[in-house]
Amino acid sequence: MRYEISPKPLFSEAEIQNRVAELAREIDASFEYDLIAGILTGAFVFIADLSRRLSRRVPLRFIKASSYGERMTSGAVEIPESDFTPFAGKKILLIDDILDTGKTLEALVQKMKACGAAEVKTCVLLDKPSRREVPFQTDYRGFEIEDQFVVGYGMDYAENFRTLPAVFVMNPAP
Ligand code: 5GP
Ligand code: MG
Repeated sequence: MRYEISPKPLFSEAEIQNRVAELAREIDASFEYDLIAGILTGAFVFIADLSRRLSRRVPLRFIKASSYGERMTSGAVEIPESDFTPFAGKKILLIDDILDTGKTLEALVQKMKACGAAEVKTCVLLDKPSRREVPFQTDYRGFEIEDQFVVGYGMDYAENFRTLPAVFVMNPAP
């Protein structure tokens, strides 16, 4: 099947920027994080925007996790083993682009806690509650969306569309 992106964005640049600013205020008012952890690659734009709006100037580390490849359905979550010692004793704000089945964040939060993290709170730009396969709730989220595949604002389909400044839906081409 061929796919194309929706002509109009699901969330415009302005809508995203306003919500990111609000989210930063919510987080700053309710969590004394001392480390930001950002999940690559799809969240790289969200991480950049949100982290600059947050008021605490704390270290930021990236974690690589991947489950999609060139498909649109979730596969096994892959997390490289090595990167977890810096999280011991930290109060971590863990940032991802989308909460879908829940497997990625559930696995990462468990790993961080197993490696001695003092506290982990999660923040996602988009939450698709209807897709959940493991019980997982995020502490902060930008928007709730339906079961649809989205691209743009850092998020890809087969490495395309990441540089679009707004979020678009992928639909089957007519
Ligand atoms: P989960 O482990 O919750 O199923 O999947 C989370 C990851 O799948 C996200 O970090 C994101 O990279 C990817 N993902 C889930 N839904 C979408 C989507 O609609 N579009 C894109 N581009 N990636 C998605
Ligand atoms: Mg991801």
